[in-house]
Amino acid sequence: MPTSFSTDLPLRGRILIVDDMMENVLVLNNILKEQHEVLFALKGDKAIELAQTRAPDLILLDAVMPEMDGYTVCTKLKHDPLTADIPIIFITALTDVQDETRALDIGAVDFISKPVNPSIVQARVRTHLTLKRQTDLLRRLTLSDGLTGIGNRRCFDEQYQREWRRCQRNQRSLSLMLIDVDHFKLYNDHYGHQAGDEALQRFGDLLSQTIQRSSDLAARYGGEEFAVLLSETDTEHAMVVAAKIHQALAEIAIPHHTSPTAPMITASIGLASLVPDGGLAPDSLLERADQALYRAKHSGRNRTEIG
Ligand code: GH3
Ligand code: MG
Ligand code: MG
Repeated sequence: MPTSFSTDLPLRGRILIVDDMMENVLVLNNILKEQHEVLFALKGDKAIELAQTRAPDLILLDAVMPEMDGYTVCTKLKHDPLTADIPIIFITALTDVQDETRALDIGAVDFISKPVNPSIVQARVRTHLTLKRQTDLLRRLTLSDGLTGIGNRRCFDEQYQREWRRCQRNQRSLSLMLIDVDHFKLYNDHYGHQAGDEALQRFGDLLSQTIQRSSDLAARYGGEEFAVLLSETDTEHAMVVAAKIHQALAEIAIPHHTSPTAPMITASIGLASLVPDGGLAPDSLLERADQALYRAKHSGRNRTEIG
Protein backbone atom coordinates (compact mmCIF):
# COMPACT_ATOMS: atom_id res chain seq x y z
CA MET A 1 0.00 0.00 0.00
CA PRO A 2 1.25 3.48 -0.69
CA THR A 3 2.20 5.21 2.52
CA SER A 4 -0.24 7.65 4.00
CA PHE A 5 0.14 11.38 3.68
CA SER A 6 -1.39 14.39 5.30
CA THR A 7 -3.44 16.86 3.32
CA ASP A 8 -2.13 19.82 5.34
CA LEU A 9 -1.28 22.95 3.40
CA PRO A 10 1.19 24.22 2.39
CA LEU A 11 2.11 21.31 0.22
CA ARG A 12 5.37 19.84 1.45
CA GLY A 13 7.10 17.17 -0.56
CA ARG A 14 10.33 15.23 -0.70
CA ILE A 15 12.19 16.37 -3.80
CA LEU A 16 15.21 14.67 -5.32
CA ILE A 17 17.51 16.99 -7.30
CA VAL A 18 19.85 15.27 -9.75
CA ASP A 19 22.59 17.33 -11.38
CA ASP A 20 26.29 16.69 -11.90
CA MET A 21 27.13 20.31 -11.03
CA MET A 22 27.02 21.09 -7.33
CA GLU A 23 26.29 24.78 -7.98
CA ASN A 24 23.13 23.84 -9.90
CA VAL A 25 22.03 21.64 -7.02
CA LEU A 26 22.59 24.52 -4.61
CA VAL A 27 20.55 26.95 -6.73
CA LEU A 28 17.58 24.55 -6.78
CA ASN A 29 18.04 23.71 -3.13
CA ASN A 30 17.80 27.40 -2.24
CA ILE A 31 14.60 27.73 -4.20
CA LEU A 32 12.94 24.67 -2.66
CA LYS A 33 14.39 24.13 0.80
CA GLU A 34 11.97 26.45 2.64
CA GLN A 35 8.95 24.49 1.63
CA HIS A 36 10.22 21.00 0.93
CA GLU A 37 12.54 18.28 2.06
CA VAL A 38 15.37 18.19 -0.47
CA LEU A 39 17.62 15.25 -1.39
CA PHE A 40 20.27 15.42 -4.07
CA ALA A 41 22.50 13.22 -6.20
CA LEU A 42 25.39 14.23 -8.44
CA LYS A 43 25.31 11.00 -10.46
CA GLY A 44 22.70 8.87 -12.15
CA ASP A 45 23.36 5.64 -10.25
CA LYS A 46 23.17 7.44 -6.91
CA ALA A 47 19.91 9.08 -8.05
CA ILE A 48 18.40 5.68 -8.81
CA GLU A 49 19.48 4.33 -5.44
CA LEU A 50 17.94 7.30 -3.62
CA ALA A 51 14.74 7.03 -5.65
CA GLN A 52 14.43 3.37 -4.63
CA THR A 53 15.27 3.79 -0.98
CA ARG A 54 13.85 7.23 -0.08
CA ALA A 55 10.73 7.29 -2.26
CA PRO A 56 10.82 10.98 -3.25
CA ASP A 57 7.54 12.58 -4.39
CA LEU A 58 9.19 14.31 -7.33
CA ILE A 59 12.52 14.24 -9.18
CA LEU A 60 14.19 17.23 -10.85
CA LEU A 61 16.57 15.66 -13.32
CA ASP A 62 19.40 17.24 -15.31
CA ALA A 63 19.33 15.97 -18.90
CA VAL A 64 23.05 16.22 -19.61
CA MET A 65 25.38 14.44 -17.23
CA PRO A 66 28.62 12.51 -17.79
CA GLU A 67 28.51 8.70 -17.35
CA MET A 68 24.74 8.16 -17.07
CA ASP A 69 22.69 10.94 -18.67
CA GLY A 70 19.22 12.06 -17.58
CA TYR A 71 17.44 10.09 -20.31
CA THR A 72 19.01 6.84 -19.15
CA VAL A 73 18.20 7.61 -15.51
CA CYS A 74 14.60 8.42 -16.45
CA THR A 75 14.22 5.22 -18.51
CA LYS A 76 15.57 3.06 -15.68
CA LEU A 77 13.31 4.69 -13.10
CA LYS A 78 10.25 4.25 -15.31
CA HIS A 79 11.02 0.55 -15.83
CA ASP A 80 11.28 -0.23 -12.13
CA PRO A 81 7.82 -0.71 -10.53
CA LEU A 82 9.26 0.67 -7.30
CA THR A 83 10.04 4.06 -8.89
CA ALA A 84 7.83 4.15 -11.99
CA ASP A 85 5.19 6.39 -10.39
CA ILE A 86 7.56 9.14 -9.27
CA PRO A 87 7.04 12.18 -11.53
CA ILE A 88 10.20 13.44 -13.22
CA ILE A 89 10.76 17.01 -14.38
CA PHE A 90 13.72 17.52 -16.70
CA ILE A 91 15.91 20.51 -16.05
CA THR A 92 17.79 21.32 -19.20
CA ALA A 93 19.60 23.99 -21.11
CA LEU A 94 18.71 22.20 -24.31
CA THR A 95 16.01 23.97 -26.21
CA ASP A 96 15.75 21.48 -29.00
CA VAL A 97 12.19 20.28 -29.56
CA GLN A 98 13.49 16.78 -30.31
CA ASP A 99 15.17 16.56 -26.91
CA GLU A 100 11.98 17.66 -25.19
CA THR A 101 9.91 15.15 -27.14
CA ARG A 102 12.36 12.41 -26.31
CA ALA A 103 12.14 13.13 -22.59
CA LEU A 104 8.34 13.20 -22.68
CA ASP A 105 8.32 9.95 -24.65
CA ILE A 106 10.29 8.17 -21.94
CA GLY A 107 7.97 9.34 -19.20
CA ALA A 108 8.99 12.83 -18.01
CA VAL A 109 6.02 14.95 -16.93
CA ASP A 110 7.47 18.40 -17.57
CA PHE A 111 10.42 20.63 -18.39
CA ILE A 112 12.14 23.53 -16.75
CA SER A 113 14.84 25.32 -18.73
CA LYS A 114 18.14 26.57 -17.39
CA PRO A 115 18.91 29.13 -16.09
CA VAL A 116 16.03 28.43 -13.75
CA ASN A 117 13.51 31.01 -12.63
CA PRO A 118 12.64 30.54 -8.92
CA SER A 119 8.92 31.30 -9.28
CA ILE A 120 8.56 28.90 -12.19
CA VAL A 121 10.38 26.13 -10.34
CA GLN A 122 8.18 26.60 -7.26
CA ALA A 123 4.98 26.71 -9.28
CA ARG A 124 5.77 23.63 -11.38
CA VAL A 125 6.88 21.69 -8.33
CA ARG A 126 3.63 22.57 -6.56
CA THR A 127 1.55 21.53 -9.54
CA HIS A 128 3.23 18.16 -9.88
CA LEU A 129 3.16 17.48 -6.15
CA THR A 130 -0.58 18.13 -6.17
CA LEU A 131 -1.08 15.77 -9.09
CA LYS A 132 1.09 13.15 -7.40
CA ARG A 133 -1.02 13.34 -4.26
CA GLN A 134 -4.21 12.90 -6.18
CA THR A 135 -2.76 9.92 -8.04
CA ASP A 136 -1.53 8.39 -4.77
CA LEU A 137 -4.94 8.83 -3.20
CA LEU A 138 -6.72 7.21 -6.13
CA ARG A 139 -4.23 4.40 -6.16
CA ARG A 140 -4.70 3.85 -2.47
CA LEU A 141 -8.45 3.66 -2.96
CA THR A 142 -8.19 1.17 -5.80
CA LEU A 143 -5.91 -1.03 -3.70
CA SER A 144 -7.78 -1.07 -0.42
CA ASP A 145 -10.65 -3.27 0.62
CA GLY A 146 -13.80 -1.25 1.29
CA LEU A 147 -14.90 -3.22 4.34
CA THR A 148 -11.69 -3.80 6.28
CA GLY A 149 -9.41 -1.04 4.97
CA ILE A 150 -6.53 -3.48 4.46
CA GLY A 151 -5.21 -4.37 1.00
CA ASN A 152 -7.65 -5.88 -1.47
CA ARG A 153 -7.14 -8.76 -3.89
CA ARG A 154 -5.62 -6.48 -6.51
CA CYS A 155 -3.18 -5.09 -3.96
CA PHE A 156 -2.25 -8.64 -3.03
CA ASP A 157 -1.76 -9.72 -6.67
CA GLU A 158 0.53 -6.76 -7.38
CA GLN A 159 2.57 -7.22 -4.24
CA TYR A 160 2.79 -10.96 -4.86
CA GLN A 161 4.33 -10.41 -8.31
CA ARG A 162 6.73 -7.84 -6.90
CA GLU A 163 7.85 -9.91 -3.93
CA TRP A 164 8.14 -13.08 -6.02
CA ARG A 165 10.59 -11.27 -8.31
CA ARG A 166 12.43 -9.64 -5.42
CA CYS A 167 12.88 -12.95 -3.58
CA GLN A 168 13.93 -14.64 -6.82
CA ARG A 169 16.53 -11.95 -7.44
CA ASN A 170 17.89 -12.16 -3.89
CA GLN A 171 17.37 -15.93 -3.59
CA ARG A 172 15.40 -15.48 -0.39
CA SER A 173 12.43 -17.37 0.92
CA LEU A 174 8.92 -16.00 0.35
CA SER A 175 6.15 -17.11 2.70
CA LEU A 176 2.43 -17.01 2.12
CA MET A 177 -0.49 -17.68 4.44
CA LEU A 178 -4.02 -18.19 3.22
CA ILE A 179 -6.34 -17.71 6.16
CA ASP A 180 -9.99 -18.67 6.19
CA VAL A 181 -12.39 -17.85 9.02
CA ASP A 182 -13.93 -21.05 10.39
CA HIS A 183 -17.67 -21.67 10.17
CA PHE A 184 -18.37 -18.14 9.14
CA LYS A 185 -21.61 -19.00 7.41
CA LEU A 186 -22.89 -20.22 10.78
CA TYR A 187 -21.70 -16.95 12.33
CA ASN A 188 -23.71 -14.89 9.85
CA ASP A 189 -26.70 -17.14 10.25
CA HIS A 190 -26.69 -16.73 14.01
CA TYR A 191 -25.45 -13.17 14.60
CA GLY A 192 -26.53 -11.51 11.36
CA HIS A 193 -24.64 -10.20 8.35
CA GLN A 194 -23.91 -6.83 9.99
CA ALA A 195 -22.18 -8.54 12.93
CA GLY A 196 -20.37 -10.69 10.35
CA ASP A 197 -19.05 -7.56 8.66
CA GLU A 198 -17.85 -6.19 11.99
CA ALA A 199 -16.08 -9.46 12.81
CA LEU A 200 -14.28 -9.29 9.45
CA GLN A 201 -13.22 -5.71 10.20
CA ARG A 202 -11.81 -6.77 13.54
CA PHE A 203 -10.04 -9.65 11.89
CA GLY A 204 -8.50 -7.24 9.33
CA ASP A 205 -7.28 -4.98 12.16
CA LEU A 206 -5.83 -7.96 13.98
CA LEU A 207 -3.88 -9.05 10.90
CA SER A 208 -2.44 -5.64 10.20
CA GLN A 209 -1.38 -5.34 13.83
CA THR A 210 0.25 -8.77 13.78
CA ILE A 211 2.49 -8.18 10.79
CA GLN A 212 5.21 -5.70 11.45
CA ARG A 213 7.62 -5.17 8.58
CA SER A 214 6.72 -2.67 5.89
CA SER A 215 7.49 -5.24 3.18
CA ASP A 216 4.85 -7.63 4.62
CA LEU A 217 1.27 -7.45 3.49
CA ALA A 218 -2.09 -8.46 4.93
CA ALA A 219 -4.90 -8.44 2.38
CA ARG A 220 -8.49 -9.57 2.02
CA TYR A 221 -8.28 -12.31 -0.55
CA GLY A 222 -12.05 -12.62 -0.96
CA GLY A 223 -15.09 -13.11 1.28
CA GLU A 224 -13.91 -14.39 4.67
CA GLU A 225 -10.53 -15.43 3.31
CA PHE A 226 -7.39 -13.39 3.92
CA ALA A 227 -3.79 -13.59 2.76
CA VAL A 228 -0.58 -12.63 4.49
CA LEU A 229 2.57 -12.32 2.41
CA LEU A 230 5.89 -12.32 4.24
CA SER A 231 8.85 -11.35 2.12
CA GLU A 232 12.32 -12.76 2.78
CA THR A 233 10.84 -15.03 5.45
CA ASP A 234 11.27 -18.77 5.85
CA THR A 235 8.76 -21.32 7.17
CA GLU A 236 10.06 -21.19 10.70
CA HIS A 237 9.55 -17.44 11.03
CA ALA A 238 6.24 -17.53 9.18
CA MET A 239 5.02 -20.15 11.69
CA VAL A 240 5.72 -17.70 14.49
CA VAL A 241 3.49 -15.15 12.75
CA ALA A 242 0.78 -17.77 12.21
CA ALA A 243 0.90 -18.68 15.90
CA LYS A 244 0.54 -14.99 16.78
CA ILE A 245 -2.59 -14.77 14.64
CA HIS A 246 -4.20 -17.77 16.39
CA GLN A 247 -3.20 -16.30 19.73
CA ALA A 248 -4.50 -12.80 18.95
CA LEU A 249 -7.81 -14.34 17.84
CA ALA A 250 -8.02 -16.26 21.12
CA GLU A 251 -7.32 -13.04 23.02
CA ILE A 252 -9.98 -10.90 21.35
CA ALA A 253 -12.32 -13.91 21.66
CA ILE A 254 -15.21 -12.85 19.44
CA PRO A 255 -18.07 -15.12 20.64
CA HIS A 256 -19.25 -17.72 18.12
CA HIS A 257 -21.56 -20.02 20.02
CA THR A 258 -22.76 -21.99 17.02
CA SER A 259 -19.25 -22.96 15.89
CA PRO A 260 -18.56 -26.69 16.29
CA THR A 261 -14.85 -25.84 16.64
CA ALA A 262 -14.73 -23.40 19.58
CA PRO A 263 -17.07 -20.94 21.34
CA MET A 264 -15.26 -18.04 19.61
CA ILE A 265 -14.18 -17.09 16.11
CA THR A 266 -11.21 -19.14 14.92
CA ALA A 267 -9.38 -19.37 11.64
CA SER A 268 -7.56 -22.01 9.64
CA ILE A 269 -4.25 -21.18 8.01
CA GLY A 270 -2.48 -22.77 5.05
CA LEU A 271 1.16 -21.80 5.06
CA ALA A 272 3.76 -22.31 2.35
CA SER A 273 7.28 -20.98 1.81
CA LEU A 274 9.74 -21.33 -1.01
CA VAL A 275 12.70 -19.67 -2.66
CA PRO A 276 11.35 -18.58 -6.06
CA ASP A 277 13.37 -19.66 -9.06
CA GLY A 278 12.93 -19.42 -12.79
CA GLY A 279 11.69 -23.01 -13.11
CA LEU A 280 8.74 -22.46 -10.77
CA ALA A 281 5.44 -20.93 -11.80
CA PRO A 282 4.55 -17.99 -9.52
CA ASP A 283 1.25 -19.75 -8.81
CA SER A 284 3.01 -22.70 -7.22
CA LEU A 285 3.28 -20.99 -3.83
CA LEU A 286 -0.41 -20.08 -3.90
CA GLU A 287 -1.34 -23.64 -4.79
CA ARG A 288 0.70 -25.07 -1.95
CA ALA A 289 -0.78 -22.64 0.57
CA ASP A 290 -4.25 -23.47 -0.71
CA GLN A 291 -3.67 -27.22 -0.34
CA ALA A 292 -2.35 -26.65 3.18
CA LEU A 293 -5.45 -24.62 4.03
CA TYR A 294 -7.62 -27.47 2.76
CA ARG A 295 -5.78 -29.85 5.07
CA ALA A 296 -6.16 -27.45 8.02
CA LYS A 297 -9.90 -27.35 7.38
CA HIS A 298 -10.17 -31.12 7.15
CA SER A 299 -8.02 -31.93 10.15
CA GLY A 300 -10.12 -29.99 12.63
CA ARG A 301 -9.82 -26.25 11.76
CA ASN A 302 -8.37 -23.59 14.13
CA ARG A 303 -4.84 -24.59 13.15
CA THR A 304 -2.00 -23.99 10.72
CA GLU A 305 -0.90 -26.60 8.23
CA ILE A 306 2.23 -26.31 6.14
CA GLY A 307 2.25 -27.02 2.43
P1 GH3 B 1 -15.36 -23.19 6.78
O1 GH3 B 1 -14.96 -23.34 8.19
O2 GH3 B 1 -15.34 -24.49 6.05
O3 GH3 B 1 -14.56 -22.14 6.09
O4 GH3 B 1 -16.87 -22.71 6.80
P2 GH3 B 1 -17.47 -21.33 6.36
O5 GH3 B 1 -18.87 -21.29 6.78
O6 GH3 B 1 -16.59 -20.23 6.85
O7 GH3 B 1 -17.28 -21.37 4.80
P3 GH3 B 1 -18.28 -21.10 3.63
O8 GH3 B 1 -17.41 -20.90 2.43
O9 GH3 B 1 -19.34 -22.17 3.58
O10 GH3 B 1 -19.02 -19.75 3.99
C1 GH3 B 1 -18.35 -18.52 3.95
C2 GH3 B 1 -19.30 -17.51 4.53
O11 GH3 B 1 -18.66 -16.23 4.62
C3 GH3 B 1 -20.52 -17.34 3.69
C4 GH3 B 1 -20.55 -15.88 3.39
O12 GH3 B 1 -21.83 -15.33 3.50
C5 GH3 B 1 -19.64 -15.27 4.40
N1 GH3 B 1 -19.06 -14.03 3.92
C6 GH3 B 1 -18.22 -13.85 2.88
N2 GH3 B 1 -17.95 -12.53 2.71
C7 GH3 B 1 -18.64 -11.87 3.67
C8 GH3 B 1 -18.77 -10.49 4.02
O13 GH3 B 1 -18.21 -9.59 3.39
N3 GH3 B 1 -19.55 -10.17 5.08
C9 GH3 B 1 -20.19 -11.13 5.79
N4 GH3 B 1 -20.92 -10.76 6.84
N5 GH3 B 1 -20.09 -12.44 5.48
C10 GH3 B 1 -19.33 -12.81 4.45
MG1 MG C 1 -14.63 -20.07 6.14
MG1 MG D 1 -14.11 -19.54 2.61
